Amino acid sequence: MFNIFHNPHQPSMDDYYEPWTYDYQHLFNAPDGTDQPTAIPLSMVTGEPIDIEAGPNWDDDLGGSPIYAANDPNLKGVPDDQRHQLMAIERLVYFYFPRICNHCLNPSCVAACPSGALYKRGEDGIVLVDQQRCRAWRACVAACRYKKVFYNRHTGKSEKCILCFPRLETGQAPACFHSCVGRIRYLGVLLYDADQIETVAKRPDAELIDGHRDMILDPHAPTVIAAARANGVHDSVIESAQKSPVYQFVKVWKIALPPHIEYRTLPMLFYVPPLSPVMAMREDRSPHAPREENVTRSVTSTIDHVSQDLFHDIDQARVPMQFLANLFGAGHEGKVRYALAKQKAVRIYRRAITVGDVDMPKAERVLRDADCSPEQAEAIYRLTSLCTFDDRFVIPPMHREEAIEMMKDPHEHRQEAGFGFLSGPRRGL
Ligand code: SF4
Ligand code: SF4
Repeated sequence: MFNIFHNPHQPSMDDYYEPWTYDYQHLFNAPDGTDQPTAIPLSMVTGEPIDIEAGPNWDDDLGGSPIYAANDPNLKGVPDDQRHQLMAIERLVYFYFPRICNHCLNPSCVAACPSGALYKRGEDGIVLVDQQRCRAWRACVAACRYKKVFYNRHTGKSEKCILCFPRLETGQAPACFHSCVGRIRYLGVLLYDADQIETVAKRPDAELIDGHRDMILDPHAPTVIAAARANGVHDSVIESAQKSPVYQFVKVWKIALPPHIEYRTLPMLFYVPPLSPVMAMREDRSPHAPREENVTRSVTSTIDHVSQDLFHDIDQARVPMQFLANLFGAGHEGKVRYALAKQKAVRIYRRAITVGDVDMPKAERVLRDADCSPEQAEAIYRLTSLCTFDDRFVIPPMHREEAIEMMKDPHEHRQEAGFGFLSGPRRGL
C-alpha cells in the first residue's frame, strides 16, 4: 500500500515558499511613540514573525537572489564572469518570463494521472483536469516539468491553467492574453501532424526544435487542407490557421521558440527571446568562442559590424547567450542566435527607414544575412509593433457542438451543461 500511495517527488512548501502576511493592525494599534510603526511579516503557517528570504514575485525581483537566482539551473554553462555580470546590481536587466501551462503536445501531466482525470481536448488541444475524476494522486504535480499543475488542499483536487476555454468558446482571448499591457501575447491555430509526436520527442536535444517545427504543417498546402478536412477539421479552423500570428512567429519567421524543449513534452507556447541592453563592462570582456553553426555565427558578426554604433552586439548583451540558450534552445545557441539576429536586423532596417542614419543597401544586406526579406521585416515590425486585437488573436469558432456529438447526444448534454459545477467538487469524489 505504501508503494501505491507514496509519491516522493512532490514539491515541498519550500518550492512554493512559506506564505506570509503582514501585521497590518500594528500600523493602527501601535502605542504612541517617536518612531514610525511598521508591519512586520508573519508566517501564515505558524503565525510567528518570519525573516523573508524568498517568495513569489519577491524572488522574481531578486529578493531571494542568493538562494534561488544564484542557483538557477538555467545558469548551467554560463561562465563565471557572465554570472557576475548578470547578478551585479548596478547592471541588472529585467525580463519577465510569464509562464502559463504550455498545453503540450506530449503532456507528461496527462500521461502520469492514474485516474485519467487529465486530458487534452481533441478539438483545440487544451489540457484540462476533470475535477470530478481527480482523486488527489498529485502525480500530475510531480510529472509536469514546468510545474504548472497545483494541488488545491481545500477541494482535494489538482488545478491548472485552462487557457480560459470558456472565453475561447465565446470568441474571446484568454484573460491574461486580453489584459496584457505589453501586448506580448498572441494566439492562433497551428495544424500539426500528431503521428510524428513520438518520433520527434525521441530526437536528440539539438534536433528537437527543428523536429517540433517540422511537425507544424503549412495550412496553405493543398495536401494539408485535404488531410485536415478528412480528419474532421472545420473549414473555419483551417482559415484561422492560415491567418495565425503564431504560425508566422514559429514557423515562417522562426523567432519564437518553445521553453525547455529538452523536457520533451513538446510545449505549444512559444517565446521570442528578448534583445537586452548592452553590458557596461564591454572593454573588460573577451569575445566568446563560437559555439554553434558557423552560418548563424557569421550572421551575427556582420550585423555587429554594421550596427556597432547603433545597437549592441548580441554577444555583449546583459543576458548571456548561454542563459537564453538554456531557456529556449535546449542548451544550444544556434536557434536563439538566429532569432536575436533577425530581430536586430529588423531594428536596423526600420532605423534606416524612419531615421535614415543607416544606408539602406547596408540595412538590406544585414537583413539578407539574417535570413530576412524586407517584406518579412515589415511584417515582423507590423505584427510586433502596430498590431490590433484582431491581428494578435485569431480565434476560430470552437464548434463545441461537433466535439460533443462525437461523445454523446447533444440534447442529453444540454441538461448537464451550465456555468460552474452542477455538484461542487468535494474531497474523495
Ligand atoms: S505544461 Fe505541464 S501541465 Fe501544462 S500540458 Fe505541459 S506537462 Fe501538462
Ligand atoms: S488567464 Fe486563462 S490562459 Fe491565462 S494563465 Fe489563467 S487560465 Fe491560463
